[in-house]
Amino acid sequence: MARLLDLRHVISPAVRDLVELANLGDLDRVVEQVRAMRGCARPVNLRGWTVTTDTTTDTIVRSYTTDDEPTGRLLTPCGNRRASRCPACSRVYAADTYHLIKAGLSGGKNVPEAVRSHPRVFVTLTAPSFGHVHGIRTTSAGRVLDCPCGRRHREDDPVLGTPLDPATYDYTGAVLWNAHAGALWARFTIYLRRKLAKRLGLTMKQFNAALRVSFAKVAEYQKRGLVHFHAVIRLDGPDGHTTAPPARATADMLTKAIRDAVKDTEITVESDTVGDHTIKWGKRLDIREITALGDGELTDNKVAAYVAKYATKSAVEDSGTIDRTLVCRPCAGQGYTTGPDRFRDLCDHCEGTGQAEPLPELRVRQHVRQMIRTAWALGHLPEFAGLKLWKWAHMLGFRGHFSTKSRAYSTTLTALRDVRRAWRLAQARADDGRDLTDEDTTLVTDSSWTYLASGYRPGEELLAAQTRHDLEEADRIKTEGVPWL
Ligand SMILES: [Zn+2]
Ligand SMILES: [Zn+2]
Ligand SMILES: [Zn+2]
Repeated sequence: MARLLDLRHVISPAVRDLVELANLGDLDRVVEQVRAMRGCARPVNLRGWTVTTDTTTDTIVRSYTTDDEPTGRLLTPCGNRRASRCPACSRVYAADTYHLIKAGLSGGKNVPEAVRSHPRVFVTLTAPSFGHVHGIRTTSAGRVLDCPCGRRHREDDPVLGTPLDPATYDYTGAVLWNAHAGALWARFTIYLRRKLAKRLGLTMKQFNAALRVSFAKVAEYQKRGLVHFHAVIRLDGPDGHTTAPPARATADMLTKAIRDAVKDTEITVESDTVGDHTIKWGKRLDIREITALGDGELTDNKVAAYVAKYATKSAVEDSGTIDRTLVCRPCAGQGYTTGPDRFRDLCDHCEGTGQAEPLPELRVRQHVRQMIRTAWALGHLPEFAGLKLWKWAHMLGFRGHFSTKSRAYSTTLTALRDVRRAWRLAQARADDGRDLTDEDTTLVTDSSWTYLASGYRPGEELLAAQTRHDLEEADRIKTEGVPWL
């Protein structure tokens, strides 16, 4: 008995907060809100209201305000794509990406099944070499060879991807390559159309009237800190996935045209300070035909799963960089602030470096630090102002989107989210027992929302941990079966 009393003094702040939440009077609703986050790491806290009025009868048909919530706020999932930020939301994103890629390969979600018969390939485009790096080399027979440094590295060796000789490694070339990777891809898609038109013996005008090239791509960082792209490229008829391309346009022709386009695509970057640089694709190019469901090694399902996995990865996991911008906010990276008298004052926040965190103190590998340093230095040059290298130094220069697709590829992520939102709304409607399926213009919804904070209260965090545990358990049972059966 005495020991139980003692416990009250060591009770954790989280448990104390949980007691407080219970005292608010509606713990069920608190639990319900947290469970609805499905384990989100840092939900967005909102305050606000929404009212739906029927303007013909001037009656309120539905209203909601966070004033009625026990904690006075509404939680919504953070929706972050990156697994390093929110594992739960990144799983939702991965599932959406999977369905999007899958629909573009085998139909479904408003995409006809006939897309399966269109020529389709899965391509990996890489960056060229900027100097020798430590790596695991194998012969075509699978025998592991020594790295040029004389050692045989393990999979988790931190030196993998770092230069054998950092002093001669072309850091400027590497950062400029990352910074132009998105533009190089865009130019590649133009060249690809030209090369296809040439092989088909068509003018560009005739080509555009006969077929369309659709693609979906994801960016991934290699250990050496350079971006590369994985892409699904598909040939469609003139109206996109609903129509078939001409029979002469085969997967084999597409493969050859991709090889031609990769060889010819280049961007020239001019600079008096660092010299001119030619941005080109690397020699490593992988093109594989995607076979119809079931047979062959690269099926629709495999490609969709592959792309979905890459879509949630971030530069942090792959190259070991940091996931926040390094620009000092108060001075916008300039290192000084300009007063009303137009005199410049050294920024107190960064002591003139312009960086939110001192680069020598970043917990990253030396190679990554040197990429960041190079990006920052190049950011000072007026010829590279458009690349916003300070803002993207933590991404080692790359500022493109992680996953993009052409409009004709398949359904969109927004469309998938709309479906989910509509479903949630339908649930909410079912809850208040009204049938509002007749969505005519007489219903007007008015709302106002403000952002409060991100994250849970300590007590809610306990509940979220329980939710995560339950979800993991449910997953495990789904894959392994119920242990006691
Ligand atoms: Zn989240
Ligand atoms: Zn080595
Ligand atoms: Zn500053």
